[in-house]
Amino acid sequence: DTTKPTRRRVLLKLSGETFGGGQIGLAPDVVQRVSAEIAQAVAQGVEVAIVVGGGNFFRGAELSQRGLDRARADYMGMLGTVMNCLALQDFLEQAGVSTRVQTAITMGQVAEPYIPLRAIRHLEKGRVVIFGAGAGMPYFSTDTVAVQRSLETHCDEVLMGKNGVDGVYTADPKLDPTARKLDVLTYGDALQQGLRVVDATAFSLCMDNGVQMRVFGMGEPGNVTRALLGENIGTVVTA
Ligand code: UDP
Repeated sequence: DTTKPTRRRVLLKLSGETFGGGQIGLAPDVVQRVSAEIAQAVAQGVEVAIVVGGGNFFRGAELSQRGLDRARADYMGMLGTVMNCLALQDFLEQAGVSTRVQTAITMGQVAEPYIPLRAIRHLEKGRVVIFGAGAGMPYFSTDTVAVQRSLETHCDEVLMGKNGVDGVYTADPKLDPTARKLDVLTYGDALQQGLRVVDATAFSLCMDNGVQMRVFGMGEPGNVTRALLGENIGTVVTA
């Protein structure tokens, strides 16, 4: 069934920074906390799909600046996301949540292949579906994949969990002391003003398809649950 879900269904994007706790490798304590917050929302009936980033292991663009072929480096980046998927799956299962991992690069021993209709079925059954390996294509980002997966699995909203900021600002608040947080924003304005908190491809894919996005901070305990339940936190970006 590919029609609209009856329950709230959302796509949560978790970046590599969350998984690494700001460092290279895995920060299990952080993944455990986030998993507990996701479990709370699942217990209240929210259908949750998750796209996982991988910047805590490799970013293709950075590796290519240090001499690697860009496409190959991007594949390394995608493989990194899968390790994060498995860590998240483990802590979610420990928290009593039923999960499936689906990857855009086939690796049958550790995950299902990405099959959209099957993903929808998992969501309907209350399983959390974790999408790994990005789009399986170099030159894309997991932010863009988050929007694509949300469209294909009919999610109501894309929730971008960010580290270090609690929403979209008029400028980078770390560099510009006059930067103001925005409560609402249009994709057109985000693109025109070059706001880089989410990448431009992701913003334009949302704009063209009328998806609502919410950008929120991962720092505040409880925010993941709040965002999943639909509380008005962070910044809402609309068409
Ligand atoms: N990547 C890619 N294609 C995709 C998704 C990701 O090539 O569809 C690679 C890219 O090299 C990227 C890395 O995987 O730098 C990790 O993903 P991303 O940087 O989006 O993770 P995040 O910033 O969320 O930690």
